[in-house]
Amino acid sequence: KGAIVFDNVHFAYDPARPILKGVSFTVPAGKTVAVVGPSGAGKSTISRLLYRFYDVQSGSISVDGQDVRAITQTSLRSAIGMVPQDTVLFNDTIAYNIRYGRPDATQEQIEAAADIAQISRSIKDLPQGYDTMVGERGLKLSGGEKQRVAIARTVLKAPPILILDEATSALDTTTEQEIQAALDVVSQNRTTLVIAHRLSTVIGADEIIVLKAGEIAERGTHAQLLEQN
Ligand code: ADP
Ligand code: ADP
Repeated sequence: KGAIVFDNVHFAYDPARPILKGVSFTVPAGKTVAVVGPSGAGKSTISRLLYRFYDVQSGSISVDGQDVRAITQTSLRSAIGMVPQDTVLFNDTIAYNIRYGRPDATQEQIEAAADIAQISRSIKDLPQGYDTMVGERGLKLSGGEKQRVAIARTVLKAPPILILDEATSALDTTTEQEIQAALDVVSQNRTTLVIAHRLSTVIGADEIIVLKAGEIAERGTHAQLLEQN
């Protein structure tokens, strides 16, 4: 479920400066496609268009054969889980941050999601009614810990589509590998669009698209791209 098709997508924030110049690719249902390329190439713009922060100027984006402009924002966004580069958390408990948007989630579901995301700060060993606070009023979480909270939120949401927009690029190498391992679990059997700055972080993708100045310069598996270069 959740096949994504970008068909000849053109987009500009400023009409005088085109950002995407006819981008076409497909993420088959359950597969992972990575978009890599230099800074400013338009990679994040692709994820913002899929999430409909903006609309394409020509061409189309569809999910399960339906143009995203014909899907309500609520149902589109409920089908998509987004893990951004820097997760901004609410100044509240870790559990609140995991549960955000899912008020019906049970304590068991929240704990299971925290386990999958490998949140080591226990949200369950604390007394009933008490929980670990984050933000000014509580502990400061590291970048990696914040990403784990974002991953747990996504696990709880269980969306068919996942957008990982430089989800590990702000982290040190060791943390990056740990978070990558958690993301690999979460992205299994989900239609996943990965935005990354380096080819080496997307080795397992079913297809890699190299975006340069708003155009697809190369595409293929990691092995195929290595052969060409
Ligand atoms: P990448 O993710 O590949 O680094 P982006 O998609 O973030 O690239 O940005 C592509 C280009 O669009 C950049 O030149 C950037 O400055 C410009 N851009 C990004 N967001 C906006 C915006 N909200 N308004 C105007 N220009 C933007
Ligand atoms: P839902 O209502 O289905 O929970 P939301 O639109 O509230 O969906 O958010 C879905 C996911 O997208 C959340 O994990 C949230 O962190 C992320 N998200 C929402 N808005 C933004 C944004 N402006 N930038 C980056 N990520 C966002």
